[in-house]
Amino acid sequence: MSIKENLLNIKSTLPEHVTLVAVSKTKPVSDIMEVYHTGHKVFGENKIQDMVEKYEIMPKDIEWHMIGHVQRNKVKYMASFVSLIHGVDSFKLLEEINRQALKHNRVIDCLIQIKIASEDSKFGIMPQVAKDIIQSRDFSDLKNIKIVGLMGMATFTHDNRQVEKEFKLLKSTFENLKTIKTENCELQTISMGMSGDYKLAIECGSTMIRIGSSIFGARNYS
Ligand SMILES: *Cc1c(COP(=O)(O)O)cnc(C)c1O
Repeated sequence: MSIKENLLNIKSTLPEHVTLVAVSKTKPVSDIMEVYHTGHKVFGENKIQDMVEKYEIMPKDIEWHMIGHVQRNKVKYMASFVSLIHGVDSFKLLEEINRQALKHNRVIDCLIQIKIASEDSKFGIMPQVAKDIIQSRDFSDLKNIKIVGLMGMATFTHDNRQVEKEFKLLKSTFENLKTIKTENCELQTISMGMSGDYKLAIECGSTMIRIGSSIFGARNYS
């Protein structure tokens, strides 16, 4: 099947409240345009430099999501246009995003990445740490960021029960933190689910799925 057919097939199965982020990392502009021409405008990249390069040459009505780990010294390159940063995992990073957003007179939407996987390699912070951050006075000073939800990545395993347990942990953390509403924090989005586990993620409460290979085919990193 073509990229376009893959996208339309997946989209036709999604409940209305679920947003699809088409993960275009490592893929050429021509592949992304195939998706764009169906009317889909939300794309995710995991490297800031790649996202900037694509942003510069592609239509300006695309919503670019940064889904990868963010290095503080690179926030400045995407601050003028990024529409959602999924992987925020420290107060220092929030401060830098706020500083760069202010320069562009914007408010940048962010998701806090919660560590839900048992693997060591996955980024993210513990639920209590996230709670402490959004309840702190220093956080309330950050007027140019807004926390709009949480993001998580499950363990890479075929054990569905393990994955389900982790998704449910993200959902319950979301329900807990949603009760904290401030000027720069109002949780609405749960970003969880990729090609291999998005159906389960939606069953567990996901409102935003990040799908790459099931749309664009396998990635070639060579
Ligand atoms: C690559 C990536 C995805 C998409 O993965 P697929 O398995 O290709 O759908 C989703 N989320 C993040 C954070 C990624 O880096």
